Amino acid sequence: MFLKALEIQGFKSFPDRTRITFEGGITAVVGPNGSGKSNISDAIRWVLGETSSKQLRGAGKMEDVIFGGTQTRSPMGFASVSLYIDNSAHRLDVEKDEVVITRKYYRSGESEYGINGQNVRLKDIYELFLDTGIGRDGYSIIGQGRIAEIVGAKSGERREIFEEASGIAKYRYRKNEAERKLAGAEDNLVRLRDILDELT
Ligand code: ATP
Repeated sequence: MFLKALEIQGFKSFPDRTRITFEGGITAVVGPNGSGKSNISDAIRWVLGETSSKQLRGAGKMEDVIFGGTQTRSPMGFASVSLYIDNSAHRLDVEKDEVVITRKYYRSGESEYGINGQNVRLKDIYELFLDTGIGRDGYSIIGQGRIAEIVGAKSGERREIFEEASGIAKYRYRKNEAERKLAGAEDNLVRLRDILDELT
């Protein structure tokens, strides 16, 4: 799996539509302090489903990811990020050789998520990347302070990282989902029995 390109518009310090393409090998982003280097990795993390604005540098609430304006430019009304992924090895469960993930957030608080142009839920994006290592909870984006966080993590939290890396996080997620549905079904059964008792 290979990140081919990133398209950013209205996200943090990128008001204009900006396309960054990645070639094979190592890509280094260089620039003066505060020029927006971290905003690029934040955009990748955000489009992959980051829901905690605290994880995105300098963003207190989700609205802070939208370009807030400068002395010469007005604020934008939305932020949009698209990530182009080479899926020719079909590691992602999508038939297409290219997968485009899109996330849009409006100042009104409305969110849109897309996979190859189709509207999806955040949950679908989360599930698509489970166990690939590059999802929201993946280990492929190591932010500042993350190493210390991993070293200092409690054993249970560290185990989650190994579970994601070894490809079993998906099964834990599905087990939890199944247990949640089972609990819902059991609640319904109890209610049904109460109604039956009242009728008989
Ligand atoms: P350093 O080298 O210090 O780590 P950096 O190049 O990684 O810096 P970033 O943290 O990516 O820089 O970018 C910070 C810049 O982004 C700041 O100038 C900040 O004003 C700007 N910025 C962040 N959020 C927004 C926003 N919502 N609207 C406009 N500008 C923003």
